[in-house]
Amino acid sequence: MEKVVVIGSGCAGWTAALYTARANLQPLVLMGGQPGGLLTTTSIVENYPGFPEGVDGFELMSRMQKQAERFGARAQFGTVEAVDFSKRPFALTVDGERVEAETVIIATGAGHRDLGLASEHKLETKGVTYCATCDGALPVFRNQPLVVVGGGDSACEEALYLTRFGSVVYLIHRRDSLRASKIMADRALSNPKIKLVWDSVVTEVLDVKLDKVTGVRLKNVKTGAENMLDCAGVFVAIGHVPNTRIFKGQINLDENGYIIPAQGAATNVTGVFVAGDCSDHVYRQAITAAGMGCAAAIEAERFLAAQS
Ligand SMILES: Cc1cc2nc3c(=O)[nH]c(=O)nc-3n(C[C@H](O)[C@H](O)[C@H](O)COP(=O)(O)OP(=O)(O)OC[C@H]3O[C@@H](n4cnc5c(N)ncnc54)[C@H](O)[C@@H]3O)c2cc1C
Repeated sequence: MEKVVVIGSGCAGWTAALYTARANLQPLVLMGGQPGGLLTTTSIVENYPGFPEGVDGFELMSRMQKQAERFGARAQFGTVEAVDFSKRPFALTVDGERVEAETVIIATGAGHRDLGLASEHKLETKGVTYCATCDGALPVFRNQPLVVVGGGDSACEEALYLTRFGSVVYLIHRRDSLRASKIMADRALSNPKIKLVWDSVVTEVLDVKLDKVTGVRLKNVKTGAENMLDCAGVFVAIGHVPNTRIFKGQINLDENGYIIPAQGAATNVTGVFVAGDCSDHVYRQAITAAGMGCAAAIEAERFLAAQS
């Protein structure tokens, strides 16, 4: 029987592990299909406090793991396939094996939706990105034309943020009006640096041969006409998908699948806590995920202390 099982090994998971390990709870961290989480896919993280020169994403996550292990956290490769939160101890199926736990901290993160283009994937981290807050300030994007794809609140927010860095920001939307809330749409539409490109989809990111983003090929969905747009960066902002499918029916999720915290890091199931991007569709940052991991760990620790 485990006292604490942490599902996920990103910033939220390893921070939860660090805190519960230091509380002598020997947490078991189930690492999932992406050990170290999303940050391992990026080269340089410039906004995680404590690293004035920036830090490689993989390096940061390895350090988080080592720090938690130093205090007794245990890492296990494995993906949770199913959970039973109907009674305590909770039961988890991990690659076919049963694991029982007094408390569970869910830190399974969220993936981003992509455009589904081969060129997009080939140029990921070479000008194609899914996070303006993370990458917008990089030198490669400064004073350059930039493209944001999407029409919701996130796309407007990303476009507005990028006006600080780019020479012009093209907001490409497949419809003829924004889906965003009125206030966000008004802000985007009235910003002189944002140029709306309506009724259009990106059909190719250029230029794979040059191994960097130089532009996009667009198709007008109403007329079928194609044209090219020069840009140095493509910011895809068409939504995220929380990794919470296995919790459906077990725990309260919102209509987009994000876990709804009941109070602080607690969920509607007593003894199950949540942290990071799987319950956060607003901030989605390494530092906020880590902070939520800390909160979930403290609450799990207090819950266990109250039981004994
Ligand atoms: C390319 C890129 C660059 C970024 N750059 C920055 C940046 O510069 N600064 C910044 O602050 N943020 C950045 N971010 C955002 C940051 O990576 C996330 O906000 C952060 O990783 C969220 O942490 P998390 O622990 O909630 O989830 P994640 O990091 O997504 O980790 C989720 C973990 O859950 C595991 N998991 C999922 N399902 C299961 C399951 N069923 N069983 C077991 N384990 C499971 C996964 O294997 C993974 O280990 C970037 C994101 C991307 C994609």
